[in-house]
Amino acid sequence: MEAALEAARAPGADVPIGAVVFGPDGVPLAAARNARVELGDPTAHAEILALRAAAAVVGDGWRLEGCTLAVTLEPCTMCAGALVLARIARLVFGAWEPKTGAVGSLWDVVRDRRLNHRPEVHGGVLVDECASVLETYFTMRR
Ligand SMILES: [Zn+2]
Repeated sequence: MEAALEAARAPGADVPIGAVVFGPDGVPLAAARNARVELGDPTAHAEILALRAAAAVVGDGWRLEGCTLAVTLEPCTMCAGALVLARIARLVFGAWEPKTGAVGSLWDVVRDRRLNHRPEVHGGVLVDECASVLETYFTMRR
């Protein structure tokens, strides 16, 4: 989660959310920051960018089996769906997102029993640090 926080704190125009994918051996494969503004891409959430980059690093198809995704904010429906499709084994996230969260807040996409792959989930990790990066950003924008 420290690495995801570091990605979130990297310079950028979009909301500071960071994500890192770790391989089965715990080695970081890819890190990304939210970049919708820079890329002009509504799907350029930190998780999506990190999943894409990690799959390119693994270079063995699209599956990220045994991998862990750490992200500073509870994933939205798109990202929750994407990490399930990528076969991520473990999801670790920081702050809760009551407005759009899809890992327990509004929906629980990753633990839907109808899906054939359900990652292990750890929410609220370093929650204060993760929330404070976002609070600082929104305070400065006001
Ligand atoms: Zn998302």
